[in-house]
Amino acid sequence: MRGILVVTGGSRGIGAATVRRAAAAGYDVAINYRSRQAAAEAVAADATRHGVRAIAVQGDVAKDADVLRLFERVDEELGRPTALVNNAGIVGPVGRVEDVAASALRAVFELNVVGCFLCAREAVRRMSTKRGGQGGAIVNLSSIAARMGSANVFVHYAASKAAVDAFTLGLAREVGPDGIRVNAVAPGLIDTEIHAPLGGDARYPPIVEATPLGRVGTADEVAQAIMWLLSDAASFVTGTVVEVSGGR
Ligand code: NAP
Repeated sequence: MRGILVVTGGSRGIGAATVRRAAAAGYDVAINYRSRQAAAEAVAADATRHGVRAIAVQGDVAKDADVLRLFERVDEELGRPTALVNNAGIVGPVGRVEDVAASALRAVFELNVVGCFLCAREAVRRMSTKRGGQGGAIVNLSSIAARMGSANVFVHYAASKAAVDAFTLGLAREVGPDGIRVNAVAPGLIDTEIHAPLGGDARYPPIVEATPLGRVGTADEVAQAIMWLLSDAASFVTGTVVEVSGGR
């Protein structure tokens, strides 16, 4: 039976690369986005070329009402989801902890942590074998920042991704008996627009210098790890964080 995948933040970057890989693997896909409708619709159109169903759904996944609406659209138009990629994320402002604004902290944690919980909650309600579902798989986007701390840059972001790691472990243990696997992928430096507000590729050289493989990664390289974790090839893998960081 064909899988039904929800990708949050699927309009570009790692989310869009994941949608492309998933469609090629035969998943029907729901592409959530926050504001870039045309980009999300273009990703959906690309996906349908593989003969799968694809819908683009606007919604701020930091907001409970939007998350409920996203999953209701998936129920109505695609069916019960069997897979979720909790990908939408922001880094927030660059700076030291002594200068961070409460509003910036809240925005980062509300999307990266609360949004991740809310989407996983809706997915579990639909996937759980104890609730009549057929099981499923969830992949959360963490970051190697969770173990590096990102001092002087964005400790708030690193802390939010450490929360994602703990959430991944806890949820995996909670819903393993319900037929659901939960894992995370922790990328290193990946060339996407997330870096634009931080100075774009101008910030890459020192990071590349510190990367044993000597380059930035691509969104598709992360998507391939995500797809492996969603697939039956990872059928005994849960509660783990897979790093895709070039060894950094
Ligand atoms: P990106 O290129 O900035 O794309 C972000 C995506 O998230 C877009 O589709 C955006 O939608 C969506 N989005 C933003 N806020 C949202 C919200 N409130 N509700 C729903 N969707 C929202 O990011 P990326 O680099 O692909 O990163 C994806 C994930 O990987 C993030 O969790 C990030 O923390 C993690 N990560 C990235 C890197 C890296 O170097 N790129 C490294 C480690 C971890 P719109 O297009 O509509 O704005």
